[in-house]
Amino acid sequence: MLPVSTWMDATCPFTSDIMDNIRLTCLQPPSTNEMNQTETHESRMKPLLELAASSGATDARVISTRDIVIDDRLPDICKQTACEGYGRSKSCPPHVAGPSMFREWIKTIQHAIVVKIDVPMEILLSEREDVMRLLHEVVASVELAAKQLRYANSKAFAGGSCKQLFCPSHEDCRAVIGKGECRNPHRARPSMSGFGVNVAELINTAGWTEDADKSGAHERTSTGTVSGLILIG
Ligand code: SF4
Repeated sequence: MLPVSTWMDATCPFTSDIMDNIRLTCLQPPSTNEMNQTETHESRMKPLLELAASSGATDARVISTRDIVIDDRLPDICKQTACEGYGRSKSCPPHVAGPSMFREWIKTIQHAIVVKIDVPMEILLSEREDVMRLLHEVVASVELAAKQLRYANSKAFAGGSCKQLFCPSHEDCRAVIGKGECRNPHRARPSMSGFGVNVAELINTAGWTEDADKSGAHERTSTGTVSGLILIG
């Protein structure tokens, strides 16, 4: 099993990446032996699942990207419903590459990790932005760790507008207005819906709907869930 490593300064000792997010955690790259052909994909995913859990996810599961349902209408809904995040960041429509690019990515990326964070509904209602920030940070941490594990094309997706979550005091997203890169590259990630990812189907695919049915959670309304996605490739 690959160890999860924590270090005291802000530089990953294995990749020299500066990680200015709050977790200061990276994964030790696998040795040649660890990457041998007998190792299963599931076992290689295990440290990423563990990292998701230690970063704040309630659960994380590996799925096939073939099971991700993409709906071309979702980015338009952002506009039609006048979402206040629409057009305000590099991570939301119309500034993201959208469903067509997502389909291109999953032609070559076979596996993904789905994460969820369960919180009491009263917390989700009263502290939604804190919960959504945590979601962004969890998926970003897993994406960055996957890249350390040589999954260089990994990409993470969350939900909610990063403009509201990370740059509320800035008038503009500087990536949108062409005055620089994203201010929060280790934290903010694009919304799943901007790429057409059907989140309800994603939760079904992860098995969480079935789990909730078995446990009777549908009858209880006290827990809210937010979810995110990382393509591992
Ligand atoms: S600069 Fe701020 S608003 Fe723009 S993409 Fe980054 S986090 Fe989002």
